[in-house]
Amino acid sequence: MTDRIKQFLADNREDGPRLVVDLDVVRDNYRSFADALPDTRVFYAVKANPAPEILSLLAGLGSCFDTASVAEIELALAAGASPDRVSFGNTIKKEKDIARAFALGVRLYAVDCGAEVEKVARAAPGSKVFCRILCDGAGAEWPLSRKFGCAPDMAADVLERAHALGLVAHGLSFHVGSQQRNPRMWNRALQVSAGIFRDLAERGIQLAMLNLGGGFPTRYLKRVAPVQTYGQSIFRALRRHFGNRIPETIIEPGRGMVGDAGIIEAEVVLISKKSQQDHVRWVYLDIGKFNGLAETMDEMIRYPIRTDCDAEALGPCVLAGPSCDSVDVLYEKDPYLLPVTLEIGAKVLIEGTGAYTTTYSTVGFNGFAPLKSYVI
Ligand SMILES: *Cc1c(COP(=O)(O)O)cnc(C)c1O
Repeated sequence: MTDRIKQFLADNREDGPRLVVDLDVVRDNYRSFADALPDTRVFYAVKANPAPEILSLLAGLGSCFDTASVAEIELALAAGASPDRVSFGNTIKKEKDIARAFALGVRLYAVDCGAEVEKVARAAPGSKVFCRILCDGAGAEWPLSRKFGCAPDMAADVLERAHALGLVAHGLSFHVGSQQRNPRMWNRALQVSAGIFRDLAERGIQLAMLNLGGGFPTRYLKRVAPVQTYGQSIFRALRRHFGNRIPETIIEPGRGMVGDAGIIEAEVVLISKKSQQDHVRWVYLDIGKFNGLAETMDEMIRYPIRTDCDAEALGPCVLAGPSCDSVDVLYEKDPYLLPVTLEIGAKVLIEGTGAYTTTYSTVGFNGFAPLKSYVI
């Protein structure tokens, strides 16, 4: 935890779970990405944390923005980004939203099939499109399934169709899966991408851009390699597959930009056992799956939790949220170790919670308020 967050929590005591994000950490992260991949433009994935203070800071630092909806486009523009720094990166868009984005000046769109190309051609004529290809999220803690992207052997047809309809067939994109702990996972996608670049060149279409997506990890309980390692690995793979004709590249970090900038302060509401003999305690917090910790789904993201008694002996706990829904259990398959002296009413700090928490909170399930957020 940063000194600034510690100070803020001490100076502003308050009931209820709250997220505090330190902008200094976001600034450092932006610079690390820019340094690690110096020839690559950064498009921050707004969905990770759309707080206006974060977007304004990044806009000021020169970041571009990957957006998924008209509302996110408007947030990026309001933060000071010009429309040429905004990408409409969702492959699933209503045609009227594409038209709205076009009216706002956005000229860069993601597609992954012919039907979406046709929508973009009608609603955003002459714009640049990039085709997303499927990428199996192996090695990622939060893999992205088959929902987005098309098979590599279809991508050339999708882009050729875009070209025929008067769009600019601009490039390719992929996402190696979020919280990708293996820096070498970009290599395979880049090899496949290079093949599609060649295929299209043979059809007379020169692609110009490669979107390397997000997936850069943040530190939770397990160690992750620094962003420099990812940068080197990606650069080597680009050299290997594109030789001295490396196209323009962009990255879309979300989690890696803001994850470690945020800490949630929460409170222990109840500690109990399910039987007298049970050696596993149930620890119920005032935050759970419905008010900020949705990414504990299937116990995929395992957050570090700090208490005031971390020096004491540890014992296994099932960790659960406060709501009256039985799925609101955070960690049970793999019990979480917490100090045996932890008491009801104690504050706990949940680290690495700057990404995918505030906007992943329900509007008020069971009357529990959406997660409060402070950006300092
Ligand atoms: C969510 C998303 C990202 C950000 O992913 P992280 O793993 O958080 O870095 C980037 N690009 C696209 C298209 C996304 O949907």
